[in-house]
Amino acid sequence: MTRVFNFSAGPAVLPEEVLKQAAEEMLDWHGSGMSVMEMSHRGKEFTSIIEQAEADLRELMSVPDGYHVLFMQGGGLGENAIVPLNLLGKNNKADFVVTGSWSEKSIKEAQRYGDIKAAANARDASAAQGKFTKVPAFADWQVRSDAAYLHYCGNETIDGVEFFDVPDMAALGAPDVPLVVDMSSHILSRPMDISKYGLAFGGAQKNIGPAGLTVVIVRDDLLEQAQAVCPSAFSYKLVAENKSMYNTPPTYSIYIANLVFQWLKRQGGVAAMEKQNVAKSELLYSTLDASEFYVTHVEKAHRSRMNVPFFLRDESLNDAFLAGAKERGLLQLKGHKSVGGMRASLYNAMSLAGVQALSGYLKDFEKSHG
Ligand code: PMP
Repeated sequence: MTRVFNFSAGPAVLPEEVLKQAAEEMLDWHGSGMSVMEMSHRGKEFTSIIEQAEADLRELMSVPDGYHVLFMQGGGLGENAIVPLNLLGKNNKADFVVTGSWSEKSIKEAQRYGDIKAAANARDASAAQGKFTKVPAFADWQVRSDAAYLHYCGNETIDGVEFFDVPDMAALGAPDVPLVVDMSSHILSRPMDISKYGLAFGGAQKNIGPAGLTVVIVRDDLLEQAQAVCPSAFSYKLVAENKSMYNTPPTYSIYIANLVFQWLKRQGGVAAMEKQNVAKSELLYSTLDASEFYVTHVEKAHRSRMNVPFFLRDESLNDAFLAGAKERGLLQLKGHKSVGGMRASLYNAMSLAGVQALSGYLKDFEKSHG
C-alpha cells in the first residue's frame, strides 16, 4: 500500500489512524454485528455515536453554554441559503464582507432572500492574478446597525485569505449585529472564540471528515427569526429541538467525524494543531518567498495557513511541475479552475513530513527548470 501526500482542498486527507480504525470497524461496529452505515439513526448505538461527536466537538472548540451544535446536510453552499432563510425573518437585512470566491458566492445567494449589502469588498477586478489578496481594514467596513447579521468567510479556500482577528462589532457601530462566519476550511485548525459569533458553519470535508456533513454552531436566540418559507429540514430551530435527528442525518460522516475528533484530542486538541499548522505553513511560505521562480499574491498578514495558492512565474511549466510532483507522490496541487496556478492545502491531517517533501520538490524543480 502506498499513501500519497494529498494536498487536495477538499474532500481532503484524513488521519491514517482514523481510516484504519474505520476499516477495522467496518463490518462489525463494537460487537453490534453491523456497520455504522447500516444502523438506524434512532437506535442506541448510533445515538451514542452522535452524542459523543457533539460532546467532543464542544470540548475541542470550547463551545460556550447557550449555543446549539447541529449536524446538518447541504454543505457550505447549502448554508449560503439556509443561513438567510433562518435569520432574515427578523427584518430582511444582512451585510456581507467579500474577501474571496466563497464569500462572493455567499452574498449572491443571500440576495435572493432579502435586502443584502456588501459592508466591504476586497475584489481587485483589474488584477490578472490574485483578485483577492487581503482582508479590508475593519475601520472601513460599513455595517448597518440594524442588520440581522454580518457574514464573512474566515478562510477563503480558493484565494488563500484568512482572518486572524474577529471584527469588533461595537467598534463598527453595530454592537447588536451577530457575526456569521463560514469556517468550512479552517474549523479546528486553531483555537477560536465561539462566544464572539452568533453562528459558525462549515462543511466537513476538509478538517472534519467525509463530505455530506455540515456542522452548524448557533447561538440560542438566533433560533427564533426564520423566514416563514424556511424548509423544515433546514430550520435550525427544528433541527435543534430534535437533536440533529429531525430527518436522517449523514450517519457515516458523523461517525468518521467522531473518530477525527478523538484523534484530535489525542494530538493535544486545537492548540497543538495551531502549532503544527503554523510550522507547516511557515515552511511552505518561506520556501516560496525565497524564490523568484514562484509567485504568491496574498498580503503576509492575511495568508491562509490552510490553503496556499501560488503560481509559477513561467506558467508554461505548469504541466511539468504537476507531473514531477506526482512522481514524488505529491498530489492534487493544481489550483482551483477559477484562479489557475497551484494550491497546496495543509489541513490538520497533512503532516509536516508532507510539507517538507513539497518544499524540497519546489527547490528541486526550480533548480532543474529555473
Ligand atoms: N465555503 C468554503 C470556505 C469552502 O471552502 C467551500 C468548499 N470548498 C464551500 C463554502 C462550499 O462547500 P460545499 O461544497 O460543501 O457546498
